[in-house]
Amino acid sequence: MRGSAEERITSRNVDLSNCDREQIQFSNAVQPHCVLLAMDPATWRILQVSGNADELGFGPARDLPGRRLQDVFTPSDYQCVSDAARKLRYPAPPLHIGSSTLGGQTRDLFIHINNGSLFLEAERQGAHPGVAQKQLYDELRNGIAQLNASTSVVGFLDQAVHVIARCTGFERVMAYRFHGDGSGEVVAEAVHQGLERYLGLHYPAADIPKPARRLFALTWLRHLPDVNYQPVPLIPEINPVTSDLADLSYVFSRSVSVMYTEYLRNMGVKATMVLTLFKGGKLWGLISCMQHSAPRHLNIEVRAVCEMLAQTSSLLMSAKEDAEFAKYRESLSHSLEALVHQLGLRTSTAEALSSPKVNLLSAMDASGAAIFLGETITLLGQTPSQSAVQALAAAIASKVQPVWSSDLATRDVAMDDETASRASGILATRIGQFDTDLVIWFRPEYRQTVAWAGDPEKLVVRAPGREARLNPNGSFDVWRTEVRGRSKPWLECELDFASRLGRVILEVVVQRSREMARLNQDLSRSNRELEEFVYTASHDLKSPLRGIATYAQMVLRTAADLPSVNRERLQSIVQLANRMDGVIEGLLRYSELGHAVIRREDVDLNEVCEQIIELLRVDIESTRTEIRIPRRLPILRCDLRWVTQILLNLMANGIKYNDKEKRTLEIGYLVPPASTVTGRTGPGILYVKDNGIGIAPDDRDAVLRLFHRLHADQKYGAGTGLGLSIVARSVERHNGRLWIESTVGEGSTFFFTLDE
Ligand code: ADP
Repeated sequence: MRGSAEERITSRNVDLSNCDREQIQFSNAVQPHCVLLAMDPATWRILQVSGNADELGFGPARDLPGRRLQDVFTPSDYQCVSDAARKLRYPAPPLHIGSSTLGGQTRDLFIHINNGSLFLEAERQGAHPGVAQKQLYDELRNGIAQLNASTSVVGFLDQAVHVIARCTGFERVMAYRFHGDGSGEVVAEAVHQGLERYLGLHYPAADIPKPARRLFALTWLRHLPDVNYQPVPLIPEINPVTSDLADLSYVFSRSVSVMYTEYLRNMGVKATMVLTLFKGGKLWGLISCMQHSAPRHLNIEVRAVCEMLAQTSSLLMSAKEDAEFAKYRESLSHSLEALVHQLGLRTSTAEALSSPKVNLLSAMDASGAAIFLGETITLLGQTPSQSAVQALAAAIASKVQPVWSSDLATRDVAMDDETASRASGILATRIGQFDTDLVIWFRPEYRQTVAWAGDPEKLVVRAPGREARLNPNGSFDVWRTEVRGRSKPWLECELDFASRLGRVILEVVVQRSREMARLNQDLSRSNRELEEFVYTASHDLKSPLRGIATYAQMVLRTAADLPSVNRERLQSIVQLANRMDGVIEGLLRYSELGHAVIRREDVDLNEVCEQIIELLRVDIESTRTEIRIPRRLPILRCDLRWVTQILLNLMANGIKYNDKEKRTLEIGYLVPPASTVTGRTGPGILYVKDNGIGIAPDDRDAVLRLFHRLHADQKYGAGTGLGLSIVARSVERHNGRLWIESTVGEGSTFFFTLDE
């Protein structure tokens, strides 16, 4: 049970804390121009009546509950009601079933069912017919033609309020549009001369509490002929079938909230009619009619025409508004197509989305954009700083499902003023498998001055010791406030574009990563096969080759009388076989590196260098190369065998590719300075520096490739073209980095790290 009359919300206890909870459909009273009968539809037993039911001439109101409708109505009236009632299936706005003379007065009869009761409203005929009945049809026809002809939504609403003002004779008719935050704005007005104009005024969201919005959404029209009416309560108070207050949601003569009448009185309104405007099933706005001079009761014919106008207006207006955005929507879908095309052409998603021709930013009416994909961030246009954008992305990541938007982002995410000025509006969409894979658009702050009907802050008044109470704007002075931190609102079509783009990118990214995984698998399989082949082939070639060299040497030693030309040929065989042996040895090592386990141990690089110098002693001495080690080398955790290979190859090359009179070779170690951000030092850098011939910039990558040699054998001695490939692969297997700095003619430095 909803509670007794005392517990219900009355003019004394409605305040801001309960205004949004006031269950206005349970007001349990009607306006005096109607009599209400609630009946059991199966038996026609009268369950409840309004206190003014004696006006119908069936005796005192309190005696009616318990009687049956057929016992009080004339047979023809009863027939009319019961025939119409058969057609009613669902709760819906009241159906006008005709008129009848009851208690000496002509009354229009309306019925509807709700919550198991059948409600009959008998309305006194309106004293104010509005425009003459015969003109109504013309007004309606011309009105719809005019509405159809208007080109903009505002122009359309302007036509609508003037047509309705003509049909109804109301002194003020205004079109009121809801914004995303629930506040409303008067966008068109037809008003009698001498009355204050409300056009352009904004009304805070609290002006129309949630329950009222719910009821507005149920019917097309609400009419309050006399704001100063005396509510007529229902008898008995509790519906005997439901043991509850009657649900008067669809009763058009329902007594309205005391807050509403107080509000209207403060505005100097004596009568009103409110028509609802819907778009796509959602409450879009209202057409509010007001009479300031006297009460005004419109009859059903005029109301029916207005209701039809409201319905037609809703349909036409949706079409107009859609047409206004159609162009923009069209350009968005073209951009989407172009972006999808680019995504197909480029392998990098971020590049495809930020190409100079069509990009994320050119598509959308926004000032900046950011693309977060994996580790990379790409910024376009006017955005907050990269670190601020990162912080924003982290803050909204969990909200983006799959799209999130705000035109007052300062309310949703903490940010400083500078960031707010560029990111007052945020629209984000998910583009990858991770929360942080996002595309974000930014809109700057859009400062505007809003004229409020009454001080929006003072809507709530707080008397000492009392609860905050809604003050329905006692004074209607215009208050101007500057709206801060808000951007232009994001449109439905923009949200739609963002979510479609997000979906497309997601598909591309997922497809690409699957493709990459497949290619990687294929690649590592063929790499493995190739390495096995190289290893086996090299291994199997080694012994026959040794055999050839050994036999050739034996012939050379034993056959003293060999003609010199044959002797030279045999010497060439020995040389070529030795060279081939070197290549095979290098290949074996290279392929071994592919699958060898890197065994890290503490390696003293000073000892390693000493051994290499010993190994290269003949070359060092013959070239008179000065070896420098400026300071002691470190002890590093690495694989001794492969680090020896790295240093041996680099040092041998440094000695070999040098044509200077005084050759120098330096082996050193650098410790980078600690990061100012993290305080940590990066991995130490080893280097081998020579003063040799140098390597041209274009050749620096090539020399690391297998068998790539820059010089003929005759020039700097023979080689296999495998040494630097082994160096590069060894460094890579240590998770390190290798790079070359060099000046042609002055020398080269090979730097490398051996990360843990
Ligand atoms: P190899 O020395 O057996 O030819 P590498 O792979 O060690 O093979 O070197 C590839 C090529 O890079 C060499 O042939 C040489 O042309 C060039 N190169 C290597 N080290 C140096 C260096 N320190 N200075 C100049 N050129 C070099």
